[in-house]
Amino acid sequence: HAKTSGRNRYAIFGPHMDELIRTRRDLEQDLRAALEAGNQLEVFYQPVYSAASHEISALEALIRWWHPNKGAIAPEVFIPLAETSGLIDRLGAFVLKEACSTAREFPDLDIAVNVSAVELGQRHYAAQVFSQLRQFGIEPSRLELEITETALLDEAGVCEKNITALREFGVKFALDDFGTGFSSFGRLQRLEVDRIKIDRSFVQAFDRPDGGVAIVRSIVGVAHAKGLRTTAEGVETEEQSEILRNLGCDELQGFHLAVPMSKNSLRELLGTERTKRTSS
Ligand code: C2E
Ligand code: MG
Ligand code: MG
Ligand code: MG
Repeated sequence: HAKTSGRNRYAIFGPHMDELIRTRRDLEQDLRAALEAGNQLEVFYQPVYSAASHEISALEALIRWWHPNKGAIAPEVFIPLAETSGLIDRLGAFVLKEACSTAREFPDLDIAVNVSAVELGQRHYAAQVFSQLRQFGIEPSRLELEITETALLDEAGVCEKNITALREFGVKFALDDFGTGFSSFGRLQRLEVDRIKIDRSFVQAFDRPDGGVAIVRSIVGVAHAKGLRTTAEGVETEEQSEILRNLGCDELQGFHLAVPMSKNSLRELLGTERTKRTSS
């Protein structure tokens, strides 16, 4: 036990480890409670813009957790926790349901939902998505599921089966954070997706000499040659936005265009966008 061992050990790693484990366990309990309470979790939406028309074409659903004592906790912290503690299915179902209700409210826009490889590895995942879409009367082709490369490494092949079933039904797939993981052009070769989301690290390297422009150009080239659409993530300046348009990127997403926002803020934004469009 850390407390009974030497003072140095205690100071160096004892309490640290204890604390980490305790924090994790506490946070897991809190997340479980949050899923039951219902009012701590909220789905935000980030508009995705068509590069050509400058109009909003889709919304990406992004989960938010407002912890009662700790404040906002980043999805990068609690999504992995949900994945290892068996809570991801309920979390994913919550997001999908919210996203479907939002999609019904804004029938002109597509809806993108992030899916963990753990969820996609469940045998009944595809059936759950079908049933949710049916309940809300959402055209399957309006839903785009964002997966990461981990989902493509699944050895049991369950992810692949779910992807195939969902795609046959009309649901779209996007490969998120492209370029950060094990992705290679070779892997792209036999990829069952409809879109590539170019990771923001490339966009943000535009002003560096070894910069992202050449990389993004080749990603867009290969994607288009394969008939896939491309979205650039993390567009933070007008300059980046211009470069990406010139590179032929199809959709743009980032703080420069719009930040992720609550459903109410989204209603306000889309209200003003509509007014702008009809009055011009
Ligand atoms: P992601 O799917 O790649 O989402 C994009 C992330 O980049 C979001 O962070 C978004 O807020 C942020 N972002 C958007 N525009 C900009 C920009 O211009 N600059 C910068 N620096 N960041 C930008 P967020 O919401 O914190 O989510 C982080 C990650 O957590 C997501 O990355 C996704 O992998 C995961 N995630 C979020 N919501 C869900 C969910 O409902 N289910 C699952 N399974 N994962 C989720
Ligand atoms: Mg995403
Ligand atoms: Mg991403
Ligand atoms: Mg990400």
